Amino acid sequence: MELWFSERHTPNVKLSIQVDRQIYSGQSEFQRIDVFDSKEFGRFLILDGFMMLTEKDEFIYHEMIVHVPMAVHPNVKKVLVIGGGDGGVIRELTRYAAIEEIDMVEIDELVVEVCKKHIPRTACCFNDERVHLYFEDGLKYIRNYENAYDLIIVDSTDPFGPGEGLFTMEFFGNCYRALKEDGIMVNQHESSFYQNDAIAMQRAHKRIIETFPISKVYQAHIPTYPSGYWLFGFASKKYHPTSDLKAVKWNTLGLKTQYYNTKLHAGAFALPNYVEEMLREIEQEKRIKAPCNNKKQ
Ligand code: SAM
Repeated sequence: MELWFSERHTPNVKLSIQVDRQIYSGQSEFQRIDVFDSKEFGRFLILDGFMMLTEKDEFIYHEMIVHVPMAVHPNVKKVLVIGGGDGGVIRELTRYAAIEEIDMVEIDELVVEVCKKHIPRTACCFNDERVHLYFEDGLKYIRNYENAYDLIIVDSTDPFGPGEGLFTMEFFGNCYRALKEDGIMVNQHESSFYQNDAIAMQRAHKRIIETFPISKVYQAHIPTYPSGYWLFGFASKKYHPTSDLKAVKWNTLGLKTQYYNTKLHAGAFALPNYVEEMLREIEQEKRIKAPCNNKKQ
């Protein structure tokens, strides 16, 4: 007998992974949660039918969303993680001795419980004494903070369902306010390859460039995400992602990584022409709009 998990990436394309057995299936107030075992990708987590992580390729996503900003900001003490219920971002952050506090706001407590029980590879560090968990909507949580965090990592689901609010102007504006004067926000930024993902990517970029003075996009190869190619957003009040990279300092920390290194850091911001073009389209719209806004004032 063959058992397969399939996710549609477009109406005409799907990714299928042969499953050994189903480990967990449940429905929370927010989403359906499934965990499967497979030969090729090990254990994997699915929310509402969408791939969140697999044991085989999660290191790429988690290293790229954490170490890129950590190698740029010279003094991260207080971090906010929004989403991230699988614990992979927390695992990478707790490797930095200099971080003093990590607040994590996850809407769905059941995701954390299920991952603690079934995916210990990522959910291994929630007990670190610097970690504080809050189970609420990140969109609401962030409204109450000003000048509080050095780094905000938005490790969300896609821009529909519970994750929808985490791609809005209101949310990015409140992240800006919640960051200290040299703060950085990094988010999962969808992908440029398939049309629907590309629309979401451009929409997120538009909202971020309208909020932050520095906003760059970087890339990683994530085999189980649609098209295998995923983007992250780097939004910052002061530091530039490549010219302010502290490569020597980061390398002296001696953190062992499987994907991230400081040469790849610089390369990840060198995007293919078609992606540059998509981003430029959005940036030009902003430039054309700006003089009109000034006239109105
Ligand atoms: N993409 C990641 C990876 O590759 O490892 C995993 C994403 S993580 C599981 C996404 C989390 O965001 C989910 O646990 C989901 O419950 C949470 N989430 C979605 N919307 C949220 C919201 N509005 N506030 C806080 N957390 C939210």
